[in-house]
Amino acid sequence: MDAKKLGLVFFPAFDWAISPVHPEREERLLYTRDQIVEEGLLDMPSIQEYKPSMAKISDLERVHIGVPDIGSLITNAHLVSAGGVMAAADAVMRGEVQRAFALTRPPGHHAMRIVHGTRGFCTINNEAIMVEYLRKVYGVGKVAIVDTDVHHGDGTQDIFYHDAETLFISFHQDGHTLYPGTGFTDELGSPQALGTTLNIPLPPGTTDEGLHTVLDHLVMPVLADFKPDIIINSAGQDNHYSDPLANMKITAQGYARLADKLQADIAVLEGGYSIETALPYVNVGIILAMAGMDYSKVIEPDINTCPAQPAAVTRAINNIIVEQQNMWGKREKLRREATAKAGDFWHSRRNIFYDEQGINEQQTETVRLCPKCAGYLLIATEAHGSGFGYKSAYAAVISRGACPHCRSAAVDAVHKVKKQGKYQHYLVQNKYEDKLEKL
Ligand SMILES: [Zn+2]
Ligand SMILES: [Zn+2]
Repeated sequence: MDAKKLGLVFFPAFDWAISPVHPEREERLLYTRDQIVEEGLLDMPSIQEYKPSMAKISDLERVHIGVPDIGSLITNAHLVSAGGVMAAADAVMRGEVQRAFALTRPPGHHAMRIVHGTRGFCTINNEAIMVEYLRKVYGVGKVAIVDTDVHHGDGTQDIFYHDAETLFISFHQDGHTLYPGTGFTDELGSPQALGTTLNIPLPPGTTDEGLHTVLDHLVMPVLADFKPDIIINSAGQDNHYSDPLANMKITAQGYARLADKLQADIAVLEGGYSIETALPYVNVGIILAMAGMDYSKVIEPDINTCPAQPAAVTRAINNIIVEQQNMWGKREKLRREATAKAGDFWHSRRNIFYDEQGINEQQTETVRLCPKCAGYLLIATEAHGSGFGYKSAYAAVISRGACPHCRSAAVDAVHKVKKQGKYQHYLVQNKYEDKLEKL
């Protein structure tokens, strides 16, 4: 039997909400589900529904280093949401469907590698967990993640910032005007992965016109160059013109045409908070496009309230496209220069804010730039907050293909810091052996 066109996974997480009136609540998916049933989409021969499975803690630990451990920071809903995304990936990899769309919550793209709590409604990163699962179970190599949520996917960027095998492209409303305040054009990845993080900060007021100019002239050509084995879409829908949390002007047609162009293997729902006026239309549009069906009739009843794109916005978008086209064109040269300049180690120091719990984290990353392998990463983290207290950890991340010298040097570095006793927890995320160890 031929593979069906599209697999769908739903998980509305009835028992998980930040608070009953919070914009991230179960109604986000219930209205969509109603619309999909009403349109008869689940009875279509080309669409197959899948039940979510439950992710294991070991699936999470391939990506996250929880302080003190990831299991104590999450609920079962998080395991089902991540498991739903993994079930979508399984359906595609087994060849049962050509592509899949996981509509699950809680969302994930603001969750970083180190986790002290919840940021931007996210505690664990569903897409990153799926990527490492795909690599572990199916041997997938190069992956592209295209994040189309209105907020910068800062968690996904953080997790893959040093990974040249993962291309992360995010377009979003400019961080000067919206949470989380990052995602600028100079965030390009650390030296050996330079260029495989590509941010496209768009001005408020960007419409379908601007979005599709970006897709045609930047995103699609970069994807064609990178040649990923798998394309993942972090499908946030809060770029919609009616979304209450942001200021962009994308329509359901704009999103459906995006899905049609991108031809993502797996789409994963992220944000989208215009529960009744946008989400059902945008999701139905994406589903029809991914299933290869006609989406031209999916139009919001109040579409005439969506304004045209101002000329200044068009000019700003064109400038960003040219800037990032230039960067992409000379990325090999930039990579060589940045690696030579950094020497043996690359350092970065950041403050990370957890908006839900008022936690302030100070984090230092040190990347070993090894000429023989993808090296290792050392992370020092200290987090403070009233009602949270103080938590700290020192961790090493050993890359998948690490050379023998890097494997032992990473562990030695953690032992050495442990002797000084400054931190509460000492951890090694060993991607080479697929395990997380406490020292
Ligand atoms: Zn969002
Ligand atoms: Zn090495």
